[in-house]
Amino acid sequence: PRTANAAPPKLIVVISVDQFSADLFGEYRKSFTGGFARLQQGGVFPSGYQSHAATETCPGHSTILTGFRPEHTGIIANNWTDLSVARADKQVYCAEDETVPGSTSANYTVSDKHLLVPTLGERMKAANPAVRVVSVAGKDRAAVMMGGHTVDELWWWNGKAFVSYAGRATPAVVVRANEATAANIAQPQAALEVPEVCKAHDRAVPVGAGKTVGAGHFERAAGSAGAFRASPAFDGAIVALAAGLVQDMKLGQGPTTDIIDVGASATDYIGHTYGTDGAEMCIQLQQLDATLGSFFSVLDATGVDYEVVLTADHGFPNTPEFARTQHYDAQRLDGDKLMTALDKHLQEKFGVAKLVQAWSLPNIHLDYALAEQNKLKREDVENAAAQYLLAQNGIVDTFTRTQFESGAVQGTHINTLMRRAWNRQSSGDLMVITKPYWYFGSGTSGTSHGSPYAYDTNVPLMIMGKRWIKPGAYGQYAEVVDIAPTLAHLLRLRPPAGSEGRVLTETLR
Ligand code: ZN
Repeated sequence: PRTANAAPPKLIVVISVDQFSADLFGEYRKSFTGGFARLQQGGVFPSGYQSHAATETCPGHSTILTGFRPEHTGIIANNWTDLSVARADKQVYCAEDETVPGSTSANYTVSDKHLLVPTLGERMKAANPAVRVVSVAGKDRAAVMMGGHTVDELWWWNGKAFVSYAGRATPAVVVRANEATAANIAQPQAALEVPEVCKAHDRAVPVGAGKTVGAGHFERAAGSAGAFRASPAFDGAIVALAAGLVQDMKLGQGPTTDIIDVGASATDYIGHTYGTDGAEMCIQLQQLDATLGSFFSVLDATGVDYEVVLTADHGFPNTPEFARTQHYDAQRLDGDKLMTALDKHLQEKFGVAKLVQAWSLPNIHLDYALAEQNKLKREDVENAAAQYLLAQNGIVDTFTRTQFESGAVQGTHINTLMRRAWNRQSSGDLMVITKPYWYFGSGTSGTSHGSPYAYDTNVPLMIMGKRWIKPGAYGQYAEVVDIAPTLAHLLRLRPPAGSEGRVLTETLR
């Protein structure tokens, strides 16, 4: 492409909309008039691809700016089990430093140490220390996995305020953002207006215990930080902080190219709370469209030549109650109950209790040492566990450590996705996948992502820039790991060594 001869952009803006599935984008794309509409005037890959299983937030954000899949980023899940850690809590959160004394996976110290590969921002900064790398998100893991190990500013919402690593100075723009957000939360919020396009979605669906979803309009009482987080106002606050940092730091106005990553997290909280089919998600996407439109106006006003990429960390299924109204077979599976039953089965078969040592589904850890003490072969325990699980309703496939290590997990599409989500160090001895639309959860409402199915893996990928991008809708196969090589190409950086993505040449001028 001719881009090889054009001056590189001065500011790279990478936006992740947490849980923005290709299905949602497809459903609403024609209704957008703000930021999403502008992005659609650039290069659009309506069904980009997070090309791995374990489609959770942390793995999904680790692929966006590294060019590597979770197998190599080391971020195989939001949480995993590591029986070798010194502390009592053997669960490890993807964006924590578990060696901090007194920490647990729930009460953790945020860290980038588990991300095994550099981000684009890090590589830009390594090539030229004048480059500024900024990352802002509603979730710490989104900010950390997109920002990487060398960041100038990195801010996330901790439930009460935007915060950063200990010991970092708080710029005035963050102080202002926290004051504005605290004032917003302190006020009661009246029901938001239902836009015309959302009226057909505005119907209550019972989800048990006298509750319904689908007809919520984000009214909330004064002081409800939880309700604020699962509302369009949350993305408003995140994006406003990003805009403020662009202005105050004069990003893109220095001698080199700067980068800002923005994790718009509200869509995920709204999807988990209300599902994807109701008025809530429709209102959220219309509001986010407007929020992004205002953000781009701020960027325009700076006069900086900027480039925007927007994608998502993963998609989302319908909640079972919604899915059943559309005649899908959808259920919740109690994972803890299933693991207890599995251990009981192994005990009956082998005469040894606690062969199932720990789990962080879909990863299951078997006690190989205990098996050995009892003269059991590791493969026999793995296979017996796999056989039992495969006989359970809702389970469609299992993968053992022996199969992963021997290279047997290949050939089919699902096998490929599973292999890319398995890391020798942090993954389980057994992985399990459910039927489509089934998920592990013991509650009576909600659903979750994490599967290797299209509703979780397929996400939009859009790239916009006046001088570098050829507008068009591209049906070609594009993966989220293609973003880092493509941006590296525009910036004249070598592609990440060994990168698993490609340069999206079809959309470059
Ligand atoms: Zn997510």
